[in-house]
Amino acid sequence: TVRTRIAPSPTGDPHVGTAYIALFNYCFAKSQGGEFVLRIEDTDQQRSTPESEQAILDSLKWLGLEWAEGPDVGGAHGPYRQSERSDIYKAHCEQLLAAGHAFRCYRTAEELNTLREQRRAAGGHTALKYSDLKLDEAEYARREAAGDVYVIRMHVPEEDGRCEVDDLLRGKIELEWGQVDAQILLKSDGLPTYHLANVVDDHLMGITHVLRGEEWINSAPKHKLLYQYFGWEMPVLCHLPLLRNPDKSKLSKRKNPTSIWYYQRMGFMPEALLNYLGRMGWSMPDESEKFSLQTMIDHFDVTRVSLGGPIFDVEKLRWLNGLWLREDCSVEQLADRMQEWALNRDMLLKMLPHVQSRIEVFSDMAPLVGFFLSGMLPLNSASFSGSNLSEEELVTLLQCTAWRLESLVDWQRDRIFAEVKSLADGLGIKLKDFMPPLFVAIAGTTSSISVVDSMEVLGPDMSRARLRHAID
Ligand code: ATP
Ligand code: GLU
Repeated sequence: TVRTRIAPSPTGDPHVGTAYIALFNYCFAKSQGGEFVLRIEDTDQQRSTPESEQAILDSLKWLGLEWAEGPDVGGAHGPYRQSERSDIYKAHCEQLLAAGHAFRCYRTAEELNTLREQRRAAGGHTALKYSDLKLDEAEYARREAAGDVYVIRMHVPEEDGRCEVDDLLRGKIELEWGQVDAQILLKSDGLPTYHLANVVDDHLMGITHVLRGEEWINSAPKHKLLYQYFGWEMPVLCHLPLLRNPDKSKLSKRKNPTSIWYYQRMGFMPEALLNYLGRMGWSMPDESEKFSLQTMIDHFDVTRVSLGGPIFDVEKLRWLNGLWLREDCSVEQLADRMQEWALNRDMLLKMLPHVQSRIEVFSDMAPLVGFFLSGMLPLNSASFSGSNLSEEELVTLLQCTAWRLESLVDWQRDRIFAEVKSLADGLGIKLKDFMPPLFVAIAGTTSSISVVDSMEVLGPDMSRARLRHAID
């Protein structure tokens, strides 16, 4: 049976790119009567968080992409979290060492830098191979005896030449071995790199087709070699074009919101977002623009993916969402959807603590909380005219706040305030000058509920998007 997978790294907000790749893997599997699996690639211990993993699972479920096996539902090929599979990778690495396909490397970071510089100076390829990295026997023995730290690297061809990789969409891709490093497989802490873990898991989990972003094409030669070393059949590879901003650059949050939760928070319908992602590089045989997930599965043919970089245009997505909510929802259904979205008791309970002391009759509430339910606020430079700061200072302030809050994981008012305060101190701007522009960016006016409370209620995705929007 056909088995595909989505293998996200839980290192940040759930990315629309992840949803897009998941959708194509899902449709490919379903259209072949196969299975779709979810695996968490959390080998980067520094950057992986359980919150991010949960957000990825929840957001993919919100979209309606369900997996047959995964960390939450289990399955016959578990565990489905790479951090729980360390022994498996170690054992496989031992196997490669024993067969002479991998070697211990005791080189220090400084030595690696020097070696790279030497290679560069010599011209030709800059990849470091075994012949560059190997130590003479006495030095190797000395470091081994001293218990120095080492990594395990794979052997790669030393001679110039090309590696051919088959891609379902691109046919044969040729890559120069000269560009391919003796890749680290096991880090000094005994944990695997992406390459080792990914290959071992795809094999052990019976993955037959790997649909992933084209950013991974350059890794394919290493993966192909690993499959050969292990004597395993390699899954069919299919590298999908990456999503792009309207200016054709790679989709990035600086130009476009990339978190799935932002789209949920804005009030896009999951059906519409999936439908739009399904049109990224792919089209229905009859070119119809609006189609359901099931219709996409029924007509799915991966060879119809076109390689030109698909443009993720929020305006087109809005238009499509409009069609969905008008054509596919009765008023009754729309009411249910909106209740699920934000017009509900949970949201009231978040807003009311900040409102109760400010209102005399219930109807006072609407103008106070309107900004909690809005999308992007209509702002212009006049919106900031009350500020004592120059335009340049304003941009710096908003930009730095956006950056600072980008990495804040624990989204609570006190944490937000601490970040803002330390930033204001750092920039040498008094809090009484620092806060008003933030109010405007977040709430559209300075006379509103405390800005850190507002950000907590709005959540990280919408708050960050408003800060970025205010800069433009
Ligand atoms: P940004 O540039 O916005 O910071 P990023 O590339 O750092 O984005 P990551 O956190 O590295 O984003 O990626 C998260 C997931 O989303 C990865 O699985 C990655 O393959 C996928 N992804 C990121 N950008 C795109 C894109 N433009 N098209 C498709 N998938 C993408
Ligand atoms: N963990 C990788 C990612 O985040 C998976 C790449 C792959 O599909 O091989 O994109």
